[in-house]
Parts: sequence; structure tokens; C-alpha cells
Amino acid sequence: AAKENGRNQYQIFSVDMLKESADRLAMEHALRHALANGELHMHYQPQISLTTGTITGMEALLRWTNPKLGNVKPERFISLAEETGLIVPIGAWAFMNACREGKAIIDELGLDLTVSVNLSPRQLQQRNLVAIVESALKSSGLPASSLEVEITEGMLMVNSGGNLEKLQSLRELGVRISIDDFGTGFSSFSYLLEYQVDRLKIDQSFVKKSVTDANAAAVVRTIIAMSHGLNIRVVAEGVENDDQLRFLLRRKCDEAQGNFVAPAVPANEFISTARSLSSIGVLQAVELKQAS
Ligand code: C2E
Ligand code: MG
Ligand code: MG
Ligand code: MG
Repeated sequence: AAKENGRNQYQIFSVDMLKESADRLAMEHALRHALANGELHMHYQPQISLTTGTITGMEALLRWTNPKLGNVKPERFISLAEETGLIVPIGAWAFMNACREGKAIIDELGLDLTVSVNLSPRQLQQRNLVAIVESALKSSGLPASSLEVEITEGMLMVNSGGNLEKLQSLRELGVRISIDDFGTGFSSFSYLLEYQVDRLKIDQSFVKKSVTDANAAAVVRTIIAMSHGLNIRVVAEGVENDDQLRFLLRRKCDEAQGNFVAPAVPANEFISTARSLSSIGVLQAVELKQAS
């Protein structure tokens, strides 16, 4: 019976695998047409200062809604786009769209906000990356100093295809560079001495555990202390509750982003999200709750 069971499990496993690869093919086919079909759009998630409580910027996050597949999770379609190279045209569109929508939001709010756009490894390999970013800035009118590019640690570890030169060229345009998901990559701190970055984003996995796990708390405290020692601003990602926010306040983290502060919303909802953020005052709300 054990053997039969084993065989059945094997079959179930391979049927699953077939289905998985069929799903993947269907998704790849759909993704190929997503841009032309207007199925991609962006959400924007605010970031706030933990010293003033005011909004400092927004991260642009790609969304894909397909008639058949529904809302596809970014973790699924972005890795597929990366593997297939589709991230190149999609990423170029993402820069263009985020600069355009970000500029409109900044103008309407009359605030000096940073628009952060994620950059994946494949995009950094592109020969014309700098030209793409430049043309997104030029055609949108967004000042270069209002644009931040988020990269991950691994992208700084090896200098291949002129990636470091491209990042340097972006910095020379005035674009800021931040390190996303900090602490989860091949963390070697040597690059922090060699290449100037403007911000570190503490990975949400540490933020999540910071109030229940002493080791995670120590990691967060250490990243904050190191950032301040290096004169790099530090932002905590994925803040989900007031305990986490209070911990970050106590530890003097500079900025916060996460669903507790505000979720990512479409561009046309961002103005009201930003306005309600400033009228409620997230920090005030947390402090009031603490006092009561
Ligand atoms: P990321 O850059 O680390 O983005 C932060 C992710 O955390 C986003 O996931 C965001 O929606 C999510 N998030 C924000 N607040 C919370 C919270 O309080 N709790 C939890 N659990 N999650 C929160 P999302 O939108 O699914 O994006 C996933 C990843 O896809 C991003 O991670 C980024 O690496 C990539 N990505 C998104 N947009 C783009 C893009 O335009 N270009 C490229 N190359 N990659 C992108
Ligand atoms: Mg990011
Ligand atoms: Mg991140
Ligand atoms: Mg990520």
C-alpha cells in the first residue's frame, strides 16, 4: 500500500507540475500583451517622516489586471517578466508612468515628494537604461531630484555590464538611489563604503518581527544605527501596526511605509490618501493611544 501511495503521490506531483507549467505559459502569453492592452497600472504607497509625521514620498508599485487571470500578484508576474525579459519594456513604461503620475500628484499637493521606482537586475543590465530614465524625466517634467530608484543589495555586489557606471550616471543626473529589502540579500557592507546611496529600506520581515522577536529587534536597531553613522536615511517597510510604529519611533527610524500608515492606492486616490494622512497625523494618533 505504501508503494501504491508513493506512486499516486508521484503522479499527483507530476500532474501539478504540468499544470504549473501550463499556467506559466498562459501567464507569459498574457503578460506579453498586457502593456499593449492597457492592463498594467500603478499603485502608490505613501512614506512618512517619523520626526514630523508628514508625507515625504511615495513608492510606485506595478499592478496587473487581466480579464482571464484577474489581479495577478506582483511577486508572480514581476519574476516572470524578469525571467522572460518582458521587464525591459514593462519597466520602461513603469518609469514613464510613475514620473508622469508622480509629477501630477506633486503639483496638485504642492509638496516636495520623492517618487520611488523599483529597478530589477535585468533592467540594470539594459544598455539604454539611463536614456530611458532621462526621457521619462524630460517628458514628465519631474525633477531628477524627485526621483528615487530602488535596487537590491545583490545588484551592487558585482560590477557586470557597467551596472555601477549606470547607477553613477543616474546619480549624476540627480536621481537618488536606495537599497530595497535591506538585510535579506547578500549583505556585504563593503559596497556602502564604495557607492553612495541615499536611503536604506529595512526589509519588512524584520519590521514584522521587531516587536515579538528580540533578534529581529536587534537587527532593526543595528540597521538604523549603521545608517545614521553613514549619514544615510533609513525607512522601515511593511509597518502593519501601532506597536511596530512605536518601536520605530523609539529607535529613531527616519521614515515609515506600510499598510498601517496607508496602503498603496491608484494615482487618482493618492491625493485624498495624502490629505487624510496629514489631517489625522499618524504619529499623533499613535501617541494619543499610548497616553490613554
Ligand atoms: P518592494 O519594492 O519591496 O515593495 C514593497 C511591497 O510590500 C509591495 O508589494 C507592497 O504592496 C507591500 N506592502 C506595503 N505595505 C505592506 C504591509 O504593511 N504589509 C505587507 N505584508 N506588505 C506591504 P507588491 O506591490 O506586491 O510588490 C512586490 C514587489 O514587486 C516589490 O517589492 C518590488 O520588488 C516588485 N515591484 C513592484 N513594482 C515594480 C516595478 O515597477 N518594477 C520592478 N522592477 N519591480 C516592481
Ligand atoms: Mg521597493
Ligand atoms: Mg522592499
Ligand atoms: Mg521586494
